[in-house]
Amino acid sequence: MSDLRKIAFERRLDVLEMIHDTKAGHIGGSMSCMDILVALYYEIMDAEKIRSRSEDRDWFILSKGHCGEALYAVLADKGFFPKEELGSFAQFNTRLPEHPSHHLPGIEIGTGALGHGLSAGVGVALSLRRQKKASHVYVLMGDGEQAEGSVWEAIMAAHKFDLDNLTAIVDRNCLQISGATEDIMPLENLWKRYASFGWHIVECDGHDPQAVCRSLTLRIPDTPVMVIANTIKGYGSPVMENKADWHHLIPTDEQYVRIKDDLLKHIGSGK
Ligand SMILES: [Mg+2]
Repeated sequence: MSDLRKIAFERRLDVLEMIHDTKAGHIGGSMSCMDILVALYYEIMDAEKIRSRSEDRDWFILSKGHCGEALYAVLADKGFFPKEELGSFAQFNTRLPEHPSHHLPGIEIGTGALGHGLSAGVGVALSLRRQKKASHVYVLMGDGEQAEGSVWEAIMAAHKFDLDNLTAIVDRNCLQISGATEDIMPLENLWKRYASFGWHIVECDGHDPQAVCRSLTLRIPDTPVMVIANTIKGYGSPVMENKADWHHLIPTDEQYVRIKDDLLKHIGSGK
């Protein structure tokens, strides 16, 4: 088992604890996007530069802000704030609300209202290029989020400005809060849609760390890159996998034990 895959399951365990303890959060999408977050923070970006707010740091924006707990688990493990603070998730006066706020170290831009993150990423990427910085901007979106019109305004703008310092990632788990994306707002030919807007598209298994890293480090001159990461909502336990209800369900005590066992089995078996 690669280190990144093992780390991702350990962070999923952190998320499970947070959500079970505090009875808040969005567990399904947090489990689906974890391998992407781990690839970014443990392999691709320099977390120390982000922690010190270096002017040369890379930027990450969690446009699917409802999965804040997944990002918090990663940031805590990377030393952005004490790990004990994860226990305050979604509690009164916390720095870790369900949707991230810039008051927490490591959060560049508050997110939660869907469809805003890519526009913010376009602005940051444009600014960094005008300052002649070598920094790269990564924006992680949900697939249900693609129904937001503002996403497509940002996609058009990134092409207009030839932003090759911008990579967008879609957590393509084919589910959203109320059901299958293809029933609610079909996304057929997603690859062709993005490509017709002038982006370079790459598709990968969003749970294969090597494939994710290869996709996230792809650079095409004068062209923004869109990574379609094929994932499974609730990844890691059959209790949750591919079930739309687990967008926002809180595990019962019995489900918590089963999910924890399943996650531990992934780590133990090396699969
Ligand atoms: Mg989704």
